[in-house]
Amino acid sequence: MPKMSKVNIAVIGAGMAGLKAASTLHSIGMNVTVFEKSRGLGGRLASRRTEFGHFNHGAQYVTARDPGFDAFLQEATEFNAARNWTPNLHRGTRADATADAGLSPIARHVGNLAVEQWYQGAPQMNKLIRPLVLPFTIQKQHRITRIEPLNQRSFMLHDDLDGAFGPFDGVIVTAPAPQTVQLLQPLSSRYTPISDVVMAPCWSVMVAFEKPFPTGFDAMLYPSPEISWAARTAQNNDIFHRRTPDPWVLHASPEWSRAHLEEDKDRVIEKLLAALRNASGIKLPELHSVQAHRWRHARTEVPLGKSHLNGMNGRVIAAGDWCLGARVEAAWRSGQTAAHAMIETLLG
Ligand SMILES: Cc1cc2nc3c(=O)[nH]c(=O)nc-3n(C[C@H](O)[C@H](O)[C@H](O)COP(=O)(O)OP(=O)(O)OC[C@H]3O[C@@H](n4cnc5c(N)ncnc54)[C@H](O)[C@@H]3O)c2cc1C
Repeated sequence: MPKMSKVNIAVIGAGMAGLKAASTLHSIGMNVTVFEKSRGLGGRLASRRTEFGHFNHGAQYVTARDPGFDAFLQEATEFNAARNWTPNLHRGTRADATADAGLSPIARHVGNLAVEQWYQGAPQMNKLIRPLVLPFTIQKQHRITRIEPLNQRSFMLHDDLDGAFGPFDGVIVTAPAPQTVQLLQPLSSRYTPISDVVMAPCWSVMVAFEKPFPTGFDAMLYPSPEISWAARTAQNNDIFHRRTPDPWVLHASPEWSRAHLEEDKDRVIEKLLAALRNASGIKLPELHSVQAHRWRHARTEVPLGKSHLNGMNGRVIAAGDWCLGARVEAAWRSGQTAAHAMIETLLG
């Protein structure tokens, strides 16, 4: 059996899947290096800093069905990296200002969704991964462009700045499916099924209103065909003392995002704000600031259907939410099982 500290593993991607895989391998003593193309960690658990606070412009809330992920959320809550979120939620069209402005609990509005507890990262969404950030090496702003097999048992990674890293005994790739397949298909046809995964895009608009947006709801699910989600991004259930500017995040529906994928950001903002005005039936307050972000690969529509995909004698493993579904929990589970599969390959 190899000495753990001599086993070198590379993980591509520092979202929930990559960090769950990295922390699992690190905690049994393997030498782990995470490569992340962005400046920050969390991937689609994303928050953007502005002059008056953070917008969560990716994942909005997290739920747990798997006991292991539930335990992670409890741990994250104790760690102050997560908190319960109980928005006053409206489901469907016409979330207007005259609607119930009381602080009714989620259960009154969402039917069967109410069986789930909702969590958010604390103080903002991208902090949810904090319990998984252990003292392994994280190479930020390194976009891996190629995995080079040196032989059957070791691999070099190359980035877009001509950097070369390794050798590694194993690699776990957790980029969204279309990016993972680009990296892995040159290695083996075993990875071809990843091409069948379908991920929907999402336009996200971050808007700060000068005055509170006068609705009794903190979040709206599908208030219009254009908008799949609109939510006040600050945690403030006190409708009489809302802070200003009032920050909201709008997510365009998959259909609308696909149809407007290449549209100019300003036009997207204009159209989605108009859709919000129509859906709410009220004039929107003056805008303090507004920006948009395009997620090309936001939510899985057709998953792989298994928790991870092995190739190269089990030493190069594909993982990510898209293996199992469209939720943060799917990413966590996929990262975990990919790490266990790597342990099995190397030590089994
Ligand atoms: C708008 C939106 C709303 C959502 N809402 C919810 C929600 O409310 N609830 C929920 O549970 N889920 C939601 N999701 C889905 C959730 O965010 C994802 O399921 C989860 O965060 C995916 O984690 P992951 O680690 O698999 O992938 P990611 O978070 O995408 O992580 C992959 C990482 O890999 C990096 N990367 C990619 N290519 C390379 C490369 N070549 N080299 C180095 N690094 C690379 C990326 O920068 C990224 O950080 C939402 C997603 C979006 C976009």
